[in-house]
Amino acid sequence: MNPTKRLTCTCSECGGSIQSPAELVGTITQCPRCGKPTELTLAVLPQEPAMPRKLIIWTIVAVVILALGVIVPVAGLKHFERLAARQKDRPPAAPGVKDAATAAGFEVSAFSREQGPDNTEVYMVGTVVNTSNRARSRVTLELDLLDAGGSKVGIARGYRPALDPGAKWQVKVPCQGASKAVSARLASITEGQ
Ligand SMILES: [Zn+2]
Repeated sequence: MNPTKRLTCTCSECGGSIQSPAELVGTITQCPRCGKPTELTLAVLPQEPAMPRKLIIWTIVAVVILALGVIVPVAGLKHFERLAARQKDRPPAAPGVKDAATAAGFEVSAFSREQGPDNTEVYMVGTVVNTSNRARSRVTLELDLLDAGGSKVGIARGYRPALDPGAKWQVKVPCQGASKAVSARLASITEGQ
């Protein structure tokens, strides 16, 4: 605490600011700028009434809380809706994809797990029939690999450069990096890519 704290005063004659020790406030002094005697009065600081400021802060806080109260549940709901949608369309996704494949002229069988002779390699085996009356080329089959709980643990791809009308493709694709896969569902079948 400095007892000779200097305050900024305002000259009543020229309006200039005068640095003055606190204890001289209220006394008459000669202004160093205009040279006229003036009473040292404290410079008028922009007065901030305490209440409105507090009020503003609390209003902001209230608005933020309200906004969060609205945004968070909405976002949460959206998230759960998305999650629910994802879970809902998990099993039915396969028939949808299968229907699309059928419409595209491919009959895709169910796939089953097959283990290699050395018991390390795991394959998914099934068939794809070209049910259309035109030759298909560069056919790519993609399978979602599922574990015992039905969770996707990887993907497997099979490729066939050409598939004649009515021809059956014996598919055997390795489940690389997804040895836990026990079943597979059709993710997509595309041509010419
Ligand atoms: Zn002055």
